[in-house]
Amino acid sequence: MDLDRALADGQFQLDFQPLVDLASARIVAAEALVRWRLSDGRLVPPDEFIPLAEEIGLIVPLGQWILQHACHVASTWPEHVRLAVNLSPVQFQHPGLVSVITSALINAGLSPSRLELEITEGVLMQSDLGTVELLHQLKALGVRIALDDFGTGYSSLSYLRSFPFDKIKIDRSFVADMDSRADAAAIVQAVASLGASLGMTTTAEGIETQAQLDQLRAEGCTQVQGFLLSPPLDERGFRALLSKETGDSLAA
Ligand code: C2E
Ligand code: MG
Ligand code: MG
Repeated sequence: MDLDRALADGQFQLDFQPLVDLASARIVAAEALVRWRLSDGRLVPPDEFIPLAEEIGLIVPLGQWILQHACHVASTWPEHVRLAVNLSPVQFQHPGLVSVITSALINAGLSPSRLELEITEGVLMQSDLGTVELLHQLKALGVRIALDDFGTGYSSLSYLRSFPFDKIKIDRSFVADMDSRADAAAIVQAVASLGASLGMTTTAEGIETQAQLDQLRAEGCTQVQGFLLSPPLDERGFRALLSKETGDSLAA
């Protein structure tokens, strides 16, 4: 019941975590990550409420709020910084996803090429629902599509053939094990070269150490994201980080 009221009560907030291009060492995008701020000030992480929000159908209006708010925030960033937004499989079952995304972009005045939608295998598993067709419709708008948490599901390689993704995000569990387990390092290396051959960007998630960063660079990953570079920051914190990088006066 608390969760049901949270949207109307304005208790959700978005944090933004930078994605850094390894070649230029610059911030090229930020991923919007939702949090629920309880009345006592405590922040509830998404893993604890997204499944419930999906169950009670709240994810549809919440997902719409996330898209609108995130696009609005991103419209104030420099042109070269993209916005990544996570989509739940439930949002794909609901008619109107394309128009929700289109109006979020139009209302914010954000170019579709600056929006990247992150989906997981869970979205593709409901293939009977015309999901791939929907993904093509979204791509036709000019937005980019990323496959998130790659390597954690069932048959990831066949999913790579089902749709021309713009990006593969290598799950952080592989990055975490990279220095201690040869198999994790081999998988990261293989995915990076697969991405390169398929013309897809590869982003490694969850980089926490310099050693991991060096290894990912050597293995040919394109982008990195993780606490080593920056944790997710609130809107103001992310703008401050951007302005520190670019030297202009974006910070509010
Ligand atoms: P995700 O999309 O894979 O997001 C990355 C998660 O990894 C984030 O957790 C981020 O804070 C965390 N992370 C980033 N760098 C590091 C690191 O160096 N080390 C570690 N240990 N963790 C790191 P968060 O924000 O708790 O989000 C968890 C998941 O919840 C997300 O995984 C995503 O699946 C879901 N989620 C978050 N925001 C949204 C949203 O707006 N909509 C939907 N549908 N799902 C969301
Ligand atoms: Mg994600
Ligand atoms: Mg992920």
